[in-house]
Amino acid sequence: MPPIDKHLKASLERTGKDYIEIHEWIDGDFDKKAERHDITKIYEYGKMIEEKYGKEGLQEYIRHIHDDIKAKVCHIKEDIEKEIDDTLSYFGVK
Ligand SMILES: [Zn+2]
Repeated sequence: MPPIDKHLKASLERTGKDYIEIHEWIDGDFDKKAERHDITKIYEYGKMIEEKYGKEGLQEYIRHIHDDIKAKVCHIKEDIEKEIDDTLSYFGVK
């Protein structure tokens, strides 16, 4: 998943603000990291974030999770493709 710096840069480019407090809240506490990326909690956490940071902050919270899912799935895809290529190569299948 992208490091916090990438999230800050992405928020800055989208909104003109880095929303560092939101990104640090999501990624900063190792014990709560999974819970804060849990899409079933978006409604609950989203209300809390919107109250504190407004609609734009809410959007950046959701976007953070979106970007993490995309990065993680792309990484898995690359690993699977490499595994398939290695397997085909092992068996001499071209
Ligand atoms: Zn994250």
